[in-house]
This record gives sequence, structure tokens and C-alpha cells, in this order.
Amino acid sequence: MVTTHNLGFPRIGGQRELKFALEQYWAGRKTEQDLSAIAAELRESHWQQQSALDFVPVGDFSLYDQVLDMSVTLGNLPARAADKEGNELDAYFRAARGRGANDSPCCAIAAGEMTKWFDTNYHYIVPEFTADTEFKLNPERLINQLAEAQQHGVSAKPVIIGPVTYLWLGKTSDGSNRLDLLERLLPAYSQLLEILADAGAEWVQIDEPALVTELDANWRYAFNLAYHQLKANRPKLLLATYFGELRNNLQLACELPVAGVHLDAISAPDEVNRIADWLPTHKVLSLGVISGRNIWKTDLNKTLNWLEPVHEKLGERLWLAPSCSLLHVPVDLSQETGLDPEIRNWLAFALQKLDELHVLTRALNEGRESVQQQLTQNQTAIDSRRNSTRVTNPDVRAAVADITTELGNRQSPYAQRIALQQEKLQLPAFPTTTIGSFPQTPEIRQARLQFRKGDLAAADYEAQMKAEIERCIRNQEALGLDVLVHGEAERNDMVEYFGEQLDGYAFTRFGWVQSYGSRCVKPPILFGDIRRPKAMTVDWIRYAQSLTDKPVKGMLTGPVTILNWSFVRDDQPRKDSCLQLALAIREEVQDLEKAGVGIIQIDEAALREGLPLRQSDWEGYLDWAINSFRIAANGVEDSTQIHTHMCYSEFNDIIEAIARMDADVITIETSRSDMELLDAFKSFEYPNDIGPGVYDIHSPNVPNKEQIINLMKLAAERIPAERLWINPDCGLKTRKWEEVTPALETMVAAAQALRA
Ligand code: GLN
Ligand code: ZN
Repeated sequence: MVTTHNLGFPRIGGQRELKFALEQYWAGRKTEQDLSAIAAELRESHWQQQSALDFVPVGDFSLYDQVLDMSVTLGNLPARAADKEGNELDAYFRAARGRGANDSPCCAIAAGEMTKWFDTNYHYIVPEFTADTEFKLNPERLINQLAEAQQHGVSAKPVIIGPVTYLWLGKTSDGSNRLDLLERLLPAYSQLLEILADAGAEWVQIDEPALVTELDANWRYAFNLAYHQLKANRPKLLLATYFGELRNNLQLACELPVAGVHLDAISAPDEVNRIADWLPTHKVLSLGVISGRNIWKTDLNKTLNWLEPVHEKLGERLWLAPSCSLLHVPVDLSQETGLDPEIRNWLAFALQKLDELHVLTRALNEGRESVQQQLTQNQTAIDSRRNSTRVTNPDVRAAVADITTELGNRQSPYAQRIALQQEKLQLPAFPTTTIGSFPQTPEIRQARLQFRKGDLAAADYEAQMKAEIERCIRNQEALGLDVLVHGEAERNDMVEYFGEQLDGYAFTRFGWVQSYGSRCVKPPILFGDIRRPKAMTVDWIRYAQSLTDKPVKGMLTGPVTILNWSFVRDDQPRKDSCLQLALAIREEVQDLEKAGVGIIQIDEAALREGLPLRQSDWEGYLDWAINSFRIAANGVEDSTQIHTHMCYSEFNDIIEAIARMDADVITIETSRSDMELLDAFKSFEYPNDIGPGVYDIHSPNVPNKEQIINLMKLAAERIPAERLWINPDCGLKTRKWEEVTPALETMVAAAQALRA
């Protein structure tokens, strides 16, 4: 018999119950007891929903983040969060977000740093270490959840992050080597495993996704050291890897002294047979055969075709699961009653994925005939998607096939272009601008909601948005900014807004996925060939430009960012979808230019997020990503100025690719790094214009003029002053006008001082 299990379940709740409970608790509108009760209810219902599995994950539920939970379990909260008054939950949320629910605003501390969980869009709280870090086991949360699961009759498999990956995920603040902490860390893990065994856990899932990354000899040795030490403990360990291929770590993973290994067979299909052959015969092999990263139905017959021989070989040693935790997909497709039925029939969310797992398992255990009906239904859905005319558009295919290198080239080099642009635009030294969005006021949100619901007529909605655009233009004129924007009032989200206007995209109502803490995103679903039926932004920008003599920037989201923040197709490479998006954005850019818009910004906020896990794979990604941007941006006259914007602060390792984009102006996030970020641009001799963000828009504080002047002086030490722009770090949509106006006044005053 094949054993089934799951690596983790989405914890936010099908209706985002956890999100709302957390936010009410933080706002003082729910007590700790209320929050615990809701959390316990969610856990119970999630276990219930997974009860057909042989092993159900326990400990995957988190109030904020599973890595932060592990830090608590190991007694490794930063001292600034732990050594304060209040209870444990206060310390926990202090580490997560700078403030516990019972802390007064004055006593906020620096929140833990957040960073991307491998190549997903989930963000975890980075564990903090110094050479003196001591670990002290605090198993309470896990033990309680285990007891709770057992009470509910769940066949529980506790889930923890393994010691090597835990260190790998963290950072030291004193320059020490975090691997030196391993020996101090392992006793806590040994203790924890014993306690879990005492509490009745037969198996423990120990997540070591660091094994799918490039590891040097020290890290590989750490794996050996750790698992040889932990093998003395009683529970059987299932070493879980996911998100990628093991490659040169495959042998290492096979040889570690554990009772079983989980391989993500969706991202590493070619390693299935190798690992099945290599794994010692006393170990189980868990195969992740259903994608935990996307929302498509699994082709069950096709999966069985390769899985049956593996089952033949492994027999009882075969376990089946989704490829990774289901944290990265929405909970329940059956809530999506508004979705086009044809498209809905192609999809599977977390619950549907577990159903698929059962069908596969029964097919292996009892033969395909035993689930013939389900397999037939599945085949019908797979065929319907494959043959749908809504998925394939011959014109789009032909346009992609016709792409030439020239399509991505500007007519002349930057030096020639910038002269023509300057002649046309006549901007002062240190031109001032913003990144695009202005405050999304309650009135704007309300209008959008009413329009969506049909309570506000299209004409009234348009009038309201135009009024907002006018106010935004007038305010910018009053502030004395040089290059204006329309303010993005009409946009709910920088990806969804474009997805909604492109053929090939579908939208869910409850397709929420946790991004960090209580924050969720609802990625649109890219299901078919991308076509732009008509211009998407031209009317708004043309209207904005009609109100002023100052130049107004057209504002678009770039193809790579649209792609990276969507659920993407699994029936063609990401590259192909990206090129289709690039052609659609290119049409929009050209339409803006035709409408007389002289400056066009194409945001690529998520370009970096698409980088593969292993640096050796970066080049391939960057080639098609940068090419896509160039195709989108570069079909314009020399005198049209192309801007791009990126909101992150690591450029060193991708500066060459950034330069290849050849945008006339790039605005970036820098204010928190004292312009050190520009070192990468300087040493690369980056040739084009740069607008280093001069203040942090994430903070409500008004920046100080001297500070901005100083930052710009630091910038001018690295980049010739004639190529510098002055702008905030990012868009202003999350701020209030009361904050934005004085901040921009200060910024403009600083620019004037610098010019003088
Ligand atoms: N133009 C967008 C804005 O101003 C850019 C947002 C972003 O970079 N994340 O909101
Ligand atoms: Zn940004």
C-alpha cells in the first residue's frame, strides 16, 4: 500500500479568517483568547479536511510565519523582542512586526527582516544570530498542537524546519559564521525529537529545502554532521526537500541517516528514477507528484504512466504527497462560483489537490479501474484545456515566432537619445518626479468597489477618477515637481489592473495566498495566449496630460513583473508567456507614444523575484527576462524617454542585466542604504540616468531636507550629477496626502537647493 501525506496546509483560511482575526487582535478588538480560539478552529477544520491522508501535518499552522515559529521553538527570538514586558505572544509579534498587541506605540522595536522563502512569493522572518547565540528548546507550541491533533483523532506527523536549513535561512549581525552554531543547535533538536517521540509522534517531517540550492563543502558537511548526530533519536525522520532539483546534493540526500526522503517530483522529474535507484532499501521515498505551486489540475493518467513503474519498484516504500506545502495555493476552488465554468474545470486548489492525491493512490493500490470515473473526468478536463481555442491564439503565436533581435533595440545609443529627449523636455538639473501612485483614498476605494458591484455607473466612475487625476496633477504642479504622473487612482493593483484588460487572464474571488503575516495576494491566473484587445491606459494618461504643460509620465507594469506575480501556465515555458506579455505591453507603449506621451515608465518591481534558486541558472532567466523588457520598451522613437522602476536594494549581482535593459532612466530603492547601493552602478560604469530614492515611503515620517541633500551628494560621488534624478523610493499609494505633501515639498526644496 502507498502511504499518503501532506507537507503543509494553507493556514490563512478559505475566507482569510486568520488574517482578519490577527488584524483585529493587533487593533485591540479581539483578545488573545479570541485569537487562539479562531486559530484552533482553523487547525481543526484543516485536519478534518486532510483526514483521509495516512499522515497529516501538524505544526505547519502558524500565527505569522513558520520560520519565526521555529525561532521561538529554538529559543532564538532577538533579545530586543524577547527581553521586554508582556507575554510570549507580545514577544512573538514584536519580532514579527515591531510591536506586540499590548505594546504602546512609543515602544516599537525594529521588526525582524523579511525575505523571500526560496523562489516563492512568501516572505519569512530571517533568524538572527551572533557568535554568542545560545539555543534553548521551547517545545510548547508544537507539543500543544500535537496534543490537540491527537485529541481530534488525527494521525499526526509533526513538521519542523531542519537544523541546517534553519541556519541557512538566517543571518549573523557580527560577521561570524552561522555554521559555527550548528553544534550548539543540535542538542535542542535532539531534545525536541525525543519530546515529540514521547508525545507519540512516529514520524517527524524535517524540512531541508536548502538541499536544492548551491551548497559549498562546509554546508554539505553540516548536513552529514547534523543527521549523524540526530539519528540517535527515536522518531523516524522524513527529510523533506522541495522547490527544485537536488543535482549534486542528490547523493548526499540519499545517504543521510534518515528513514525517508521527500523529493519534489514536479520540479525535479528527472531525478525520480535516480533517487529511486540510489536510495538505500530501508528508506521510504516520498514523491511530491502534485504541484503545490500552481493551480492547475494534475494530468492524472500521465502521472500514473510514470508513477506505476516507480511503484512497482518501490512497493510499500513509496509515499505520495503534493510537491511542497500547499501554503502557496488557495484553499478551495468550490468557492469560485463566479469563475467561467470552462476555466474552473481546469483548476485545482489545495482541497482539490488532496482529492487528486487520493485518486492517484487508489489507482496505484487498487488499479486504475477502481477510479475509472475520476480518471475519465480528469482526462476530459485536461483535454478541454489542451484543445481550447481560448488557450491558443494563432495570431499571438505567429507574432512571437516573428520576434527578431532588432525588436528589442532602440534606434540609437543612450547618449544620442538623451540629447534629443533633453531638447524636447527641457528639464532642470536634478529633475524631480515620483514613482507613479498617489494616495489611494477611502473615496477612491469606495468608488472602485461600487463600480465593480454595479452600484456606480461607468460614466460616474470615470468622472470620479478624472476628478482624482485632476487633483493629483494640480497638487503636483503646486509642489513644483518636474515630471508628473496621473496617480494610478483607477488601479487596484499593478498586475491585476493589466491582467483584467488582457485576453488570456482569469481572476478568482477567494484565490488568496499568504505573502507574509496577515498579508495575502490574489495572483491572477494566466491561462491562455496573451492578447491586448485595446489600449489599456491611453485615455487616462492623455486626460492627465491635457491638464498641464508639464510632462506626464505614462505608467505601465512590465512583462516580467506581470508574469512573476501571476499563476502561470504549466503548458509552456515561462519564457514564452513572458514574450507574449512583452508584445502586449509594447503595443501599449507605442499607443502612448502616438498619443503624444513623451515619457513612459515600465515598472519591473518583480524582476529580481524571478531569479532561479541556483545562481548558475540565473543567466538563462535574465536573458529572456531582459529581452522581454527590451521588446516591451524599445519600440519607440529616440526622443521618447523610457523609465523603469525597481523596488529592491540588491543590484550588485544583476547590474549587467539591468544595464542591458537600456532604460533611459531607472528609479530605484536606495534611501535606507545611504546610497551605497549605487556602488554597483558606479563600478559597472552604468551609463544611463538614475533616480535613487531619497526617502523611504514605507514610513509615515516626513524626510528632512538636509538629509536628502546629503544623500544626493553621496549619490553624486558615485554617479555624475547630470545623470541624477530625485524621487521617493517607491509609489505613494499606501500613504496619506497629509504625509505625501510635506514629504514632497521637502524633496523639491532639496532639489532647488542642490541646483543653486
Ligand atoms: N508605479 C507603481 C506605484 O507607484 C510602482 C509600484 C512598485 O514598484 N511596487 O505604485
Ligand atoms: Zn517600487
